Amino acid sequence: MAWFRRSKQNISPDSQKKDLPDGLWEKCPGCSEIIHTKHLAENLWTCLKCNYHFRIGSKEYINILLDKNSFKEMDKKMKSADPLEFTDRKKYKDRIKETIKKLGINDAVRTGTGKINGKNVAFGCMDFKFIGGSMGSVVGEKIARLIDKAYKNKIPLIILSASGGARMMEGAYSLMQLAKTSSRLARLAEAKVPYISVLTDPTTGGTTASYAMLGDVHIAEPKALIGFAGPRVIKQTIGRDLPKGFQRSEFLMEQGFIDVIANRKDLKTTISNVLNLLD
Ligand SMILES: [Zn+2]
Repeated sequence: MAWFRRSKQNISPDSQKKDLPDGLWEKCPGCSEIIHTKHLAENLWTCLKCNYHFRIGSKEYINILLDKNSFKEMDKKMKSADPLEFTDRKKYKDRIKETIKKLGINDAVRTGTGKINGKNVAFGCMDFKFIGGSMGSVVGEKIARLIDKAYKNKIPLIILSASGGARMMEGAYSLMQLAKTSSRLARLAEAKVPYISVLTDPTTGGTTASYAMLGDVHIAEPKALIGFAGPRVIKQTIGRDLPKGFQRSEFLMEQGFIDVIANRKDLKTTISNVLNLLD
């Protein structure tokens, strides 16, 4: 028999959610603080109380990291084909169409050139909202072309990742992107053009297994989930409990996979400092 019994029904963390008008307030997943969207935006979508970093998209990162109006987008119109004619709960073709309509972007990465404190860079930024930031043939091709741009113009490359991994609906076509992007990066490294990889929450699967972990310098946002397979799968495979903070930025830095952890508000300065060091 239980020692304590709940006297009122429906007291659960979820029950606090329902009174919030949509779009005006956000509840922080880190500390449950209710924050006005305006304040959150002013604070670059990080919690004022606990520094939780909310997930944001490429549009926001471009504003935060690049000099004003300096971004020139490449391959903006590139869209996914459906080579396998794949269907899960819905047709992949329809899923793509709906996502494009909802988000106003054509795939899970935006690429182009821009300036960071006056310095020319090739810049790519993923959008997790677009089918989990999955890397299909469009993401792979756009990243490959961005690397080529950095190679040709001899300008530093910066890729900000936010991704659940390879795009399942494109099967082996997605997996081919790992080889494509990795070989381009090898060529870039031979030409001694710097590549800074920025890892945000989450960076997993095929993205981690290719360009996200091939930087000359790896910068991560605090407490971002970074790994290949998820913790549950690993736990089942090795049959052991995982250490505390496993696969978070801080843990990975201890293990030597990450060079710097930077708060979002310091991210531009950090990248700029690294660029100056590598110059
Ligand atoms: Zn918080």
